[in-house]
Amino acid sequence: MDTAAAPREGSDACPGVSRPFPASDGAMVRLRPGGRPVGVAGLTRLFDTLAGQADPSLQLTSRAALQVRGLPDPLPAQARAGIIATGLVPSLTHELARNIVASPLSGLDSEGVVDIRPLTRALDEGLRADPSLARLPGRFLFVVDDGRGDVIGSAFDVGVIATGDATVTVLAAGASRGWAVPVDAAVPLALDLAREFLLRRAEAASLAWHVRELGLPIGPPGAAAVTLPTGSPPAFGAHGRHAVVGVPLGMLTRPHVAALANLTDEVILTPWRSLVIEGGATGLEPLRRAGLAVTPDSPWARLHACTGLPGCARSAIDTHRLARALAERLPGGHDRLPVHVSGCPRRCGAPSGQYVDLPAPESVSEALALISASTPEDR
Ligand code: SF4
Repeated sequence: MDTAAAPREGSDACPGVSRPFPASDGAMVRLRPGGRPVGVAGLTRLFDTLAGQADPSLQLTSRAALQVRGLPDPLPAQARAGIIATGLVPSLTHELARNIVASPLSGLDSEGVVDIRPLTRALDEGLRADPSLARLPGRFLFVVDDGRGDVIGSAFDVGVIATGDATVTVLAAGASRGWAVPVDAAVPLALDLAREFLLRRAEAASLAWHVRELGLPIGPPGAAAVTLPTGSPPAFGAHGRHAVVGVPLGMLTRPHVAALANLTDEVILTPWRSLVIEGGATGLEPLRRAGLAVTPDSPWARLHACTGLPGCARSAIDTHRLARALAERLPGGHDRLPVHVSGCPRRCGAPSGQYVDLPAPESVSEALALISASTPEDR
């Protein structure tokens, strides 16, 4: 992850309300929670806003953000104003820069070293308070890990991981070398690293999206090697008083949100197509009836698909339709090998580790045969 990449030839095209992306199924915008909980009332208002649109959908991304697809292109001013009025875009100036992924169960269970939520809030507030940081590329990623190792394995630009009650290590460019600092110094250092990235990028007249693309180290002297823990995404179901529920294919629907509204005011988005619900353990059955995945043995714990038709013109198949049919027959569980359906050889959204690759299968039977050939436990 530390190696320099080929120079970028243009700016990133990461979408936002201020910069919708013209996809084949219409305009697409991304709403970034900045590692913080999302109000369910805001999600309800968003579906109200989208009610007049032809075929909108709300998609969870691998950076724990929300993506609205299928909007009119170009996006009418009224639709833009309606999305902003949901409260899901708290900063118009910094909306593209608020890419923060934090350990989603932090403070709710005992797996982390500390509750990292105050630090995540401080990072988001510090980012938004500095006008210069609005220039960060839309691909630039901060991660904040509470010590359990669930998100520090991401390809981050600036990472923070808790190492003790009052100590953290700050890292740059996905490296396993970093600066051990008191917790109060973590946000200033993380923001300084982001500013230094912008400075070095400007000096080199570079269009780099990531720190590693600069091809030179950033940060103060004294970085030391760190052994980073590796954690796994949480299983669906109850976690003590709290709950993790899977969102099939990462597509959040109005019935999902209506069921969530009966249970909670806020949800935490994870980077793994699931939601954390504080205090939600006793309310799982209505969520299951609404179509969310609430047990660890759900097929949605291992099955995913790229956008496919009609959202992506490159696709040979409707990947989501095939995945939904496949889910009816696929043995589930977080402990089984992930299965990824792609519409073309690009394999967008495929897991980083080992997985069963299903490139544009023509039928569920063909998909099952490929899965069976790849994984002995599925035979
Ligand atoms: S893998 Fe291919 S078909 Fe699927 S979203 Fe990516 S480009 Fe489109």
